[in-house]
Formats: sequence, C-alpha cells, structure tokens
Amino acid sequence: MTRRAIPAVHRFTADPEVAAFQRVLGRAAVRTVVQSVLGSARARPLPVAEFGALRRDVLAALDRAATHGLLPVINGTGVLLHTNLGRAPLAASALDAVRQLGAGYTNLEYDLAAGERGSRDDRVGAQLRELTGAEAALVVNNCAAAVLLVLDTFARSKEVVVSRGQLIEIGGAFRLPDVLRKSGATLVEVGTTNRTYGRDYRDAWTPNTALFMRTHPSNYRIEGFAADVDAPALAAIAKELGVLSFEDLGSGALVDLTRFGLPHEPTVAQVVEAGIDLVSVSGDKLLGGPQCGIIAGKASLVARVAANPIARALRVDKLTLSALSATLALYLEPGRLTDIPFFAMLALRPEALLRRAEAICARVSRGAAARAPRVKPRHMSSTTGGGTLPLAAIPSAGIALDPVDGDADALAARLRDGRPPVIARVDADEVFIDLRTVPESEDDTLVAALRRAAAAH
Ligand SMILES: *Cc1c(COP(=O)(O)O)cnc(C)c1O
Repeated sequence: MTRRAIPAVHRFTADPEVAAFQRVLGRAAVRTVVQSVLGSARARPLPVAEFGALRRDVLAALDRAATHGLLPVINGTGVLLHTNLGRAPLAASALDAVRQLGAGYTNLEYDLAAGERGSRDDRVGAQLRELTGAEAALVVNNCAAAVLLVLDTFARSKEVVVSRGQLIEIGGAFRLPDVLRKSGATLVEVGTTNRTYGRDYRDAWTPNTALFMRTHPSNYRIEGFAADVDAPALAAIAKELGVLSFEDLGSGALVDLTRFGLPHEPTVAQVVEAGIDLVSVSGDKLLGGPQCGIIAGKASLVARVAANPIARALRVDKLTLSALSATLALYLEPGRLTDIPFFAMLALRPEALLRRAEAICARVSRGAAARAPRVKPRHMSSTTGGGTLPLAAIPSAGIALDPVDGDADALAARLRDGRPPVIARVDADEVFIDLRTVPESEDDTLVAALRRAAAAH
C-alpha cells in the first residue's frame, strides 16, 4: 500500500462497530478521532497499515475517548490524600448516604416540624459544633472558597495583617496574597520570613484593620531560628485592639493524629479554644470526607458570612452535605473512626503490608518470563499528602519493580495504561507501589496489572 492508498474516512465511519461510538461521543467526535488516527498513519513511514489494523487503532482510540471521563485508579503512590487522585476516599456510610439521599427528594432546606423552608446547614452545623466547640459552622465548596468568603465578608476595602512567614502558596493556584487581593482586601505583611512577634501585629494596626489572619503553612516548615505568634497570643492581641482573628487551618484535623504515630497537628477545636474568631478548613484533607470547605467560629460572625450573597454561589449540594454528615457521624460514634478510609489506611501496620507485598510478588513472579521486570517486597514510607504534614514519613511497605531494561518510566507508563490504571512512584531506576494506599480487596487486580505490565514488555 502507498500513502495515497489510505482508506477514506467514510469507510471507517460506516463500520458498525465504529458507528456504535456515535451514540456515546456524537458523530462529529467520532469523525475527528478517525481523522486523527488516519493522520498519524499518514505521517508514519511507508508502508501504511492495512484497513484491518487501522480499524483496530481507530476502535482503540475511540475506546480511550469514550472512557476518558473519570476512572477509578489504583493509587500506588503511598500519598494518602493525593490531590491529583481526588484526595480522601469516602467511607462506605458516606457513599450509602449519597446513594440514598441523591436518588430522591430530601428535607435539604425544609423544616419538617414547621412545614416550611429550613436551613441546609442545620444538621452538619450541629455535628460540627459538637466536634469543634465552635458556636456555628457553614459549609462551602472548598477551603479556598471559605477563605475568599471570610475575607470578602469582613475585609473588603480594609486591611488584613499576615505574617510574612505565612504568605503561602498551596498546590495549584491558591496563593494567599492573590486571594486577598481578589477579595478586595489590602494585605499588610508583618515580621520577616522566619520571625514575627506580637508587637509586629500591634505596630501594623490602623483604624482600617479588619482582620489579623494566621495561615497554616501546610506544605512547608520553617525550622531553626524562627518565631511565630501562636493562635492564643494572636487572638488575645486581636481582642485587645478590637479586630477579628481568623485562622486558615487548611488541613483540618478534627482529632489528635499522634495516636496514629503522626506529628502533632493543631485541631479545629484547639484553634477555637485558643479564642480565634473564625477558622477555615478543607473537608477532604485530614478530615477524610468529601471536597468542601468549613467555616467555624462565633455564631454572629458565621451568620454574617452566611448572609454574604457570594455564599449562595459557593454553597454545596445535597450530595456533599450527606457525605460530610455521614463522615462526621463516624467521629461522633465511639470506635467508628477507622471506618473512614483515611484513618483505616493510617492504621495499617508495615509488617502486615510487607506480608501482602510478599504474597503479591510470589504470585507475579510465578511463571514470569526471564526478561520480565523483577518484583520484590520492600519497606518504604508513605506520606499524608494534600499539603498536610509535609515532613511526616509513615513507615510502610509495598512492591519494588526493577525494570530489567532500566526504563523505569516506561514501566510506570505501562502500569498507567492498564484498566484500572495503576499509579506508581518512580525513584531512580525503580518503580514502587506502596500498599498502604491500595485496598487489600484490590490485590488480585494488582497482581493481574503487574503481570500485564510485565508481559507487555
Ligand atoms: C489546602 C489548603 C487550602 C485550600 O483548600 P481546598 O479545600 O483545596 O480549597 C487553603 N488553605 C490551607 C492552609 C490549606 O492547607
């Protein structure tokens, strides 16, 4: 076959199997996929593949296009709250709640006793009051929205005083100075990168100061010659000068994590107890729930935030509220905490993970070709991720794959190419799969994926 003999687009679109994709993707998209496959065939050196081979390529490309929505993946990175992989997996009871409440009507904003309009935040509000000691709480789309809303409500055209050591950038596009500017507030930086004192806040105060703001430097630490004004001290200075105090706690632990062997992380209750007026956290970080942002604090202030017209644009739907409420219920009921997958994963013992790794490696190695990647059980360390506890290494175990040809990136790409995709970590010349973030129920799938990746070699 010569270049000119490449079959016409309509020969493919007329094929029943190809045409079947029109129901999922639409006619135009199918045509585009066919054209793109034929385009790359044309660009390849001669000879051009036969119709049958091209048709297989077209069907594979259509299949990828049709499933390029969200897919379940196996997280072998050992990063428990991996932002790119959707952060916290939800508890079974949270999923049940989503199913049940999503399938029909609910009393989302309906007061059953009075038979009239009610508040959508009442139920989680009560749970959050109980868990944090705050007088009131409001749920919005995420923590970035929570910060924006608090600043917009109290600091528009006013000054917000922040320590230079806390002007953070977190993942993606959340840069505190930019968020402040967007909300119409003026940022007043005080102190230095490593040291800020109470007198810095006092000196910065003007009659136009709205807020003293603390942010949790979630994803980095300043160590050594450093000084910071802690929450109780900042709350006291704010009170004395008659301005509000606000802490963007971000990671949002509701319980002490040292019991899971993690470093101490301030809880929402501790910030409230310290006298800070308002605190904002994420729902899908250390809380282990759905994506959302929680604003907790003084009732009169939370009411003002809720009355901000922008709150309406940032509110969450019934699915998020039901998942959050079911997750919070697991904190309130004694002994249920490890029903939240994040805590269940934290509680896994490295020895148990190593035994799983040994069993998986034995199954993968059995009958493997001589040139297949070598698999070995290995100790490794997991991290919490999501910009939380950056320095905490959690002893873990999993599988190390040694690509015999030395191409670790190609092996990791083959693992990602499978269904479900397996996301592994590449370090130096090896590929690692940390079993802490892989549910044991997925071990058979993982064995099959590892065998496939080895065979495709
Ligand atoms: C993660 C984080 C945010 C952003 O939270 P999202 O829920 O991802 O919007 C804001 N502030 C701090 C301190 C954080 O750690």
